[in-house]
Amino acid sequence: KLLLEITDLAVEVSGKEILSDVDLRIDKGETHVLLGPNGAGKSTLFMTLLGFPKYNVTRGEIIFKGEDITHLSTTERVRKGFGVSFQNPPSIRGVRLGDLLKIEHGEKDEDKELSQEMMDLVYKLKFDERFLERDVNLGFSGGEVKRSEILQLLAQSPDFIMFDEPDSGVDIENVELLAEEINILLDKDKKPGLREKSGLLITHLGYILNFVAADTAHVLMDGKIACSGSPDEIIEDIRKEGFHGCVECCQIQ
Ligand code: ADP
Ligand code: MG
Ligand code: MG
Repeated sequence: KLLLEITDLAVEVSGKEILSDVDLRIDKGETHVLLGPNGAGKSTLFMTLLGFPKYNVTRGEIIFKGEDITHLSTTERVRKGFGVSFQNPPSIRGVRLGDLLKIEHGEKDEDKELSQEMMDLVYKLKFDERFLERDVNLGFSGGEVKRSEILQLLAQSPDFIMFDEPDSGVDIENVELLAEEINILLDKDKKPGLREKSGLLITHLGYILNFVAADTAHVLMDGKIACSGSPDEIIEDIRKEGFHGCVECCQIQ
């Protein structure tokens, strides 16, 4: 069942065309991965899908759950089921993590304690009560910031989650932990046909794909999708031949 459909998308930033001819279809329960060299336009696509105003859609459309969202605000997209994990999430001074989680999970203000369901997730992500009292991400270590992001996404339970290079700047042991958490978010503990959550995972080199199973991979080059196919084959081609070689392989087939 189709969840997100991007057709013939072109995007300008500051009057310069960064993306063009982008087509992408993601079904319910699927995880797609977007690979590509630095400057290819991966983050531009991420920001555009999120609906940030400076990313100006000049052609094409974005359909989510059958509805044209091309010109909706970020808030409206989030309300419809978009979730994001930023590369560098901000800290929020004066807002306690526990209170933010309560709002994100739709728990009433007057309920003093966080629900048992959320507390189970708090412990699962190796946090404890003391963290709930702290300002969001303030003074957290790199790993704690990533885990707090995952916890917030679990609270919101969005249908479609985008990750922009979650593995960048994370050391190898922690990539594996992070991947476990992404797997929880994307229902990987369920059988493929039973998964409710979909994802778009952006990664530069794809190391995280050793631990997160993706259904389809796309290579973005110079603002266009140059190649789509099996993640294993595409990653292997990129490792052997680089991005350009991989795209040539795609075109030969
Ligand atoms: P990636 O995430 O794949 O590394 P980006 O989407 O960040 O690529 O960048 C794609 C292109 O858009 C690059 O050429 C970059 O210089 C340009 N770009 C990104 N952000 C802006 C901006 N705010 N203003 C002008 N050009 C930008
Ligand atoms: Mg980059
Ligand atoms: Mg980027």
